[in-house]
Amino acid sequence: MKADRDLLGSSAALQASRVQEWRGKVEDKVADRIAVWIAGVAILASSLQVSQCVSDPHQPMKSLVTQSDVDAAAASREQMVKNQLEYRGVRDPRVLKAMRKVPRDKFVPPEYRDRAYDDGALPIGYDQTISQPYIVAFMTEALQLSGKERVLEIGTGSGYQAAVLAELVPEVYSVELIEPLARRAEKTLSELGYTNFKIKVGNGYEGWSAHAPYDAIMVTAAPADIPPVLIDQLGMNGRMILPVGTGTQDLILVKKTPGGIVKKDLLPVRFVPMLNQDRHKDD
Ligand code: SAH
Repeated sequence: MKADRDLLGSSAALQASRVQEWRGKVEDKVADRIAVWIAGVAILASSLQVSQCVSDPHQPMKSLVTQSDVDAAAASREQMVKNQLEYRGVRDPRVLKAMRKVPRDKFVPPEYRDRAYDDGALPIGYDQTISQPYIVAFMTEALQLSGKERVLEIGTGSGYQAAVLAELVPEVYSVELIEPLARRAEKTLSELGYTNFKIKVGNGYEGWSAHAPYDAIMVTAAPADIPPVLIDQLGMNGRMILPVGTGTQDLILVKKTPGGIVKKDLLPVRFVPMLNQDRHKDD
């Protein structure tokens, strides 16, 4: 055993002296440069491999999404949560987790994708907008969702708010007046793997009676007054949040209590108007 170790020891010493000899012949700087170059090639090769893994060879490829795109979106979301939400006082950990998770970049038109995590609303076509992330988080937090609720949203739009709700509760129902928006939102949510939502093309002033009563209702377009049908479809102890008014609006939290309806004025806001077109009835 000891002899083996000695042998090993001496051959290692011999190798070391040979390396020393070799290093003596080659300029140190050149050797270092070669090492850096080899490391660079290795990193490039591994990053190419990662981005290839992301695209499924069996699917027709619409646009190449690389691992670095995915990482960049996650990093932008993290910044958005810190700088826009936490900084302004959103605290509910479940809401923050949902906002960290839902890829807003998948809900905006391709030409706005690089602005998906900016601090504002963005156009989604048909004169409509996806709401500012802070407003989405603020309104969601105000509903105080514990995780068991059935929630109605009026104004599906891009489906982003519905996705945030779908992260938090088992049942989300959403009503949208403009059919192509409803269809696109449905597709986006399904492609992202959500199964706990239903979208209906219809007039939000009528709510969605088939699944009432709701534990919570969120309206993301502004009516001039609180629609009475939505109060009817709210369950006892239910909460509803909605912008109310014409021009500038107030974000109002409505609670249905055994003693009656309680309203609280939370924030001045600016939403697109809730249109009063009659486009029903398929429930
Ligand atoms: N929550 C959406 C943004 C809403 S924008 C999102 O996350 O992207 C407001 C939406 O309300 C628009 O899509 C608009 O078409 C819809 N809307 C306006 N009036 C409506 C009505 N009466 N009933 C249902 N949807 C309505």
